[in-house]
Amino acid sequence: MDVSATKRRLLKVIFLGDSGVGKTSLMNRYVYKKFNLQYKATIGADFMTKELQIDDQLVTLQVWDTAGQERFQSLGAAFYRGADCCVFVYDVNAVKSFESLTSWHEEFLKQAGPADPKAFPFLLLGNKIDVDNGHNRAVSEKRARQWCDSRGSMPYFETSAKEDYNVNEAFLCIAKAALTNEE
Ligand code: GDP
Repeated sequence: MDVSATKRRLLKVIFLGDSGVGKTSLMNRYVYKKFNLQYKATIGADFMTKELQIDDQLVTLQVWDTAGQERFQSLGAAFYRGADCCVFVYDVNAVKSFESLTSWHEEFLKQAGPADPKAFPFLLLGNKIDVDNGHNRAVSEKRARQWCDSRGSMPYFETSAKEDYNVNEAFLCIAKAALTNEE
């Protein structure tokens, strides 16, 4: 019997980005298939889990939320410890949330200290693409992709937690990326 076919991998995924960009909403949409328009539906727990299968591999995704501590250095070491994938989120309608990404990236490298920062799996999500159908967005897709490319071809998805657009696709990519982490 092929043991690898039944072995379950626990993968820790952390979400970073300014408060209000939709981190909790994206997780709620993916894990519980629901969306709440009220600001900060804080769940109280540190993380949500979702099980999925990727090829022969059973995976438990453990997705960590910040519970409103999105100021630099306010997330404790336990938040970063053992992360297999780091997902950055910004709001395509809020330029400041995009400009914060570089600081979030630096903060992750400082706090998590991955052995090989270039090989570590990162992703970027541009959320709230549903607002104005994306016509009056503040940050262009091109600009976002340039930021990703300058950091080693980071995968990029434009999402809407509200409209359930690209959320499953993004999380599948997150899970696959996390699986590549050997640390
Ligand atoms: P967090 O602080 O990054 O976790 O952000 P939240 O998930 O709490 O979301 C902040 C606000 O943005 C809430 O009012 C959400 O309902 C709203 N929101 C989140 N995602 C979307 C989205 O894709 N589209 C729209 N229009 N609003 C969203």
